[in-house]
Amino acid sequence: MASSTHNPDRPDAASDRYPVIHKGPVPGRVEPNLQDYDATRAGFTWQAIRAELNGLPNNQGINIAYEAVDRHLAKGRGDKIALRWLGKTGDCREFSFDDLYRQTNRVANLLQTLGIQKGDRVFVLCTRIPALYIAALGTLKHRAVFCPLFSAFGPEPIAERVNAGDGRVLVTTRRLYEKKIAPFRDSMPKLEFVLLVDEAGEEVDIPGTLDLLALMGEASDAYTIGPTDPEDMALLHFTSGTTGKPKGAIHVHQAVLMHYMTGKYALDLHEDDIFWCTADPGWVTGTSYGIISPLLHGVTMLVDEPDFDGPRWYSILQEQKVTVWYTAPTAIRMLMKLGTDLAKQYTHPSLRFVASVGEPLNPEAVVWGQQALGLPIHDNWWQTETGGIMIANLPALDIRPGSMGRPLPGVTACIVRRLEGGGIEEVDAPGEEGELVLKPGWPSMFRGYLHNEERYDRCFVDGWYLTEDLAMRDADGYFWFVGRADDVIKSAGHLIGPFEVESALIEHPAVAEAGVIGVPEPTLGQMVKAFVSLNPGYAPSEALKRELLGHARKRLGAAVAPKEIAFEEKLPKTRSGKIMRRLLKARETGETLRDTSTLED
Ligand code: AMP
Repeated sequence: MASSTHNPDRPDAASDRYPVIHKGPVPGRVEPNLQDYDATRAGFTWQAIRAELNGLPNNQGINIAYEAVDRHLAKGRGDKIALRWLGKTGDCREFSFDDLYRQTNRVANLLQTLGIQKGDRVFVLCTRIPALYIAALGTLKHRAVFCPLFSAFGPEPIAERVNAGDGRVLVTTRRLYEKKIAPFRDSMPKLEFVLLVDEAGEEVDIPGTLDLLALMGEASDAYTIGPTDPEDMALLHFTSGTTGKPKGAIHVHQAVLMHYMTGKYALDLHEDDIFWCTADPGWVTGTSYGIISPLLHGVTMLVDEPDFDGPRWYSILQEQKVTVWYTAPTAIRMLMKLGTDLAKQYTHPSLRFVASVGEPLNPEAVVWGQQALGLPIHDNWWQTETGGIMIANLPALDIRPGSMGRPLPGVTACIVRRLEGGGIEEVDAPGEEGELVLKPGWPSMFRGYLHNEERYDRCFVDGWYLTEDLAMRDADGYFWFVGRADDVIKSAGHLIGPFEVESALIEHPAVAEAGVIGVPEPTLGQMVKAFVSLNPGYAPSEALKRELLGHARKRLGAAVAPKEIAFEEKLPKTRSGKIMRRLLKARETGETLRDTSTLED
């Protein structure tokens, strides 16, 4: 097992400084969906969850978009506001379930007209505008595969993913197209259709593209969803590993059971909620919980177009009367930096439940929630591959600040160590570190990495799914995050593969070799830092550093590019010639490397 990050908040260290926050009924608030953790786990079946959803009419299977949208019309909730969109210039647009029904039907019909078939991949590269949400759901209705891309990706990560996913359609905005797609269109030979939306609502007339809104206007607003097998591919989420290209994790329509169950138990969604998930749908959280799960529960979901803005966020919580808020540690730390005084200028009496995901949530942030928002923050854990929340500080449980919580009903988690000759064995002692593994069988488990069966097979040992996260379990069954077992970087909650960054850097003529790591940073969690050695004829200088930073940013985009670059005469390597990122990291953080036996010299 590779490096681990020391977690100063492990149970032994944290429990004195951050005592348990006891669950308790909040006067005047709705009863939580999950009342008794042990009893619900013991009696839990996926069949019972399935029975809470509809399925397509005439036993035609189950389709995520039908459950999220159409089902509510059949229940007479068509007029209810499903999506309230807050634009960056102050405008607000509302879409009822009926509006979503018709608009997503139009998208499905348009895809049909273009000859898009079941299983074809539709990529969406948009800022948080209504068209993104409508395109996602219309794609699912048509049984094509929704593949989100983060709008802050640069041209290289975009083309890489579109090609790896055999994208036939790309939905994007005029601005993103002109900057990130048009100059590189030739590098995406399988891309047949680009559907454009103009940010200002103008018509689009750019050669080689189609005007999405105009074509939707011509399409019928009636559409019958075809038979959808629960195992039909629905979503393709790209994620990064230590080596190689990004991997496309396949999720199927059956995942909807998990989206629903976790919305009910981990986020405690009730039909009258105003729910705000701040994650961007370019990442898995923003799809599972920023689109699907809230709609399944028939709540009103908020979408805020601009990026983080502390005062704006507080005023949204207040004015929109948000009841359930799902956000991320980096955002919480940014709010903490702005001070409790700012928080106190706002009130949010409607707010009932706050949860967070994506990276370790410092225990002080949990406690800060109590001071600033009047509520503790419930950390939860999951991954792109798991498709939904797996471990959580649930409403029915006391919160242990610094812990990820306990497994959801229907989820079995365990801590193991890997054995020398292959295989794994369970770690018995509470508090002992090992790798977090999960028993396959939950509906949103990824079904493969697209075109990479061998890598998928390597995720499983002895019937367990290996998460590559190091963790421990305390005596009461709470899981505590320790670090990653591999070299991937989590910056502002976004998973970044070092290989992708290194590859872009060595494309620059000055760079001979590059090693990229995440270094601890108080707000972002980790910051991407690159170490480079130079080719003959190049010498380290501030000007070259700036040039390399600019080069990386132009290719990779702000979300992925390194924030710092350091020059090295020679990068540390293993005897087999692989750059030892672990050593770079240990040097940077002052930690001692446990195992240097494979170091070159
Ligand atoms: P992603 O696949 O991009 O969603 O990233 C998943 C990874 O994020 C996990 O494997 C963890 O390393 C990290 N992560 C997610 N949630 C948490 C959490 N609550 N605490 C610590 N790490 C987390």
